[in-house]
Amino acid sequence: MSNTFDQDFCPACGTILPLPDGSSMIQCLLCKKILDISVFHGTQSTIHVDFQNIEDGRRTSENNEAIEGTLIQRKCPRCGHDEMSFTTRQLRSADEGQTVFFLCPKCSFQELENS
Ligand SMILES: [Zn+2]
Ligand SMILES: [Zn+2]
Repeated sequence: MSNTFDQDFCPACGTILPLPDGSSMIQCLLCKKILDISVFHGTQSTIHVDFQNIEDGRRTSENNEAIEGTLIQRKCPRCGHDEMSFTTRQLRSADEGQTVFFLCPKCSFQELENS
């Protein structure tokens, strides 16, 4: 490959990161950690980024990917399965709370809840 950017590895899970597409943000496909490339290349530290800021340019495969998380006792409103996968995501600054994602492993029904 002869890209101007070297490929980087996610510091959280070690997965190879997708190449940046002009934005300064890059998202790990596996653990969904969002990295600021300029920071990443400099100090190796990572930051959490407000999703709202990157929605315009960086909505790639996120919508189609299954959300992985912990199975909890929760009845799926669609198929009645009694376990759903539970994932939280910090969407905004800490005082804004976080969004909880539920995914039915049986019928792939997805539910969002803002706490
Ligand atoms: Zn990762
Ligand atoms: Zn279901």
